[in-house]
Amino acid sequence: MKSSHPNTNVQAAESLWQTHRYGELDKSHLRFSDIDPIIKTLAERPDITMTTLGHSCARRPIYRLTTGHGPMVILTWTQMHGDEPTATAAVLDWLRILPDLAATSLPKDWQSLVTIHVIPMLNPDGAERCTRVNEQGIDINRDARQLQTPEGNILWQQVNELSPDVAFNLHDQNPYYTAGQSAYPATIAFLAPAFHPDKHVDAPRLRAKQLIACMAETLSHWLPCHIGRYDDTYSLRSFGDNIAGTGASTILIESGAHPQDPHRQVARKMNVIAMHSAIDALLCNRYQEKSLADYYRIPDNVEDGLTDVKFSQLQQTCHDTAYTCDISVNFNASGNASISHIGDLSTQSAFKSVAAFDAMVLPLKARHISEPLTLTKDAYLELLNAGICYFVGDASMLSNKSGMPVLCLAEPFDTDTLYPGAPAYWIMRDAAQTQWAVLNGEVIEL
Ligand SMILES: [Zn+2]
Repeated sequence: MKSSHPNTNVQAAESLWQTHRYGELDKSHLRFSDIDPIIKTLAERPDITMTTLGHSCARRPIYRLTTGHGPMVILTWTQMHGDEPTATAAVLDWLRILPDLAATSLPKDWQSLVTIHVIPMLNPDGAERCTRVNEQGIDINRDARQLQTPEGNILWQQVNELSPDVAFNLHDQNPYYTAGQSAYPATIAFLAPAFHPDKHVDAPRLRAKQLIACMAETLSHWLPCHIGRYDDTYSLRSFGDNIAGTGASTILIESGAHPQDPHRQVARKMNVIAMHSAIDALLCNRYQEKSLADYYRIPDNVEDGLTDVKFSQLQQTCHDTAYTCDISVNFNASGNASISHIGDLSTQSAFKSVAAFDAMVLPLKARHISEPLTLTKDAYLELLNAGICYFVGDASMLSNKSGMPVLCLAEPFDTDTLYPGAPAYWIMRDAAQTQWAVLNGEVIEL
């Protein structure tokens, strides 16, 4: 098949990934113990060198895997935010399939042209706790200047020692970004970070933008509507921005959501293909065909373009004033739903939409509990029908046998109106007097 991308053979890349990716990494979160055996296995290969760069705060090793020995130096790191694992799987997949992939898409002598360094999981302690921050509670990506974290020190040492020509800074973003003003989640977002508040474009930054244009073109083969361009406001304390200031063509890739893809395997695959196509474009000088316009043609990565559940056109009353509003609800990692926005949300799309046209939200009403209460389904439904949407008191006294979500708070809400940040529990009534309960974001007809 003739491809519009003459060098990166996209079909070959996809089928190699499908058959050789590390299946055991198809999960919602990755810890050091998930990747340690894979790193050791890769290190046995004659074309890969493993270096222990140092240790995290809690003494977990931080490894670097290196392949190739050419003058063009690439440095890639992942999971500096412990709860952002997608690219960690991707870089390990990439190293696994690189010899086969290179045979179809890179110059024959690629190993003498380029040296590829990969640091998978820069923040293994945060990965263990599934937190953004490290063991010290510090966001490593705000420590690029103070260097008070061992992990940030390791990264900065690597930048000084290796003087990379190209640096890949790999993260995950929340699932609510869209590609432009669309309903499509941004499965991949790119950025060539600024190295100065004025956002100058010097030669390395131009090359980063050109490489991104190449990657976006390759990925558009699969994801024509799911690629965003991240905001380039200068971030003084962040690594990407500071590394861009060293003259490295620095590229941020954010992995994002994709429909029906809870483990972000689409973004994982796209990371592999994006990085490979960047190396390909770099070694063949193909990136020079791209212009700044090609970079800016990528739609904005729009924050809060999506929400998990959107209720459209509800009626509410606050201090005797009635009004119409939309309400969006997001689930956190533990599955708890809370209200994210209230108002005119016509620009926001949703993974799930509830057309609640003109249903009236009843004032939030609580049942106080002062003695043990066993909540059967029938008893709960009766309370919901009576307009009770939550409980107040000692949660240990409430035994929920209803099979439905229950909210029990120590103190009542200080308002009887829905408010951003509040748990998504309320009762509403439509024009036909049918009553509905929203329990942890789920709608139940009463
Ligand atoms: Zn991040």
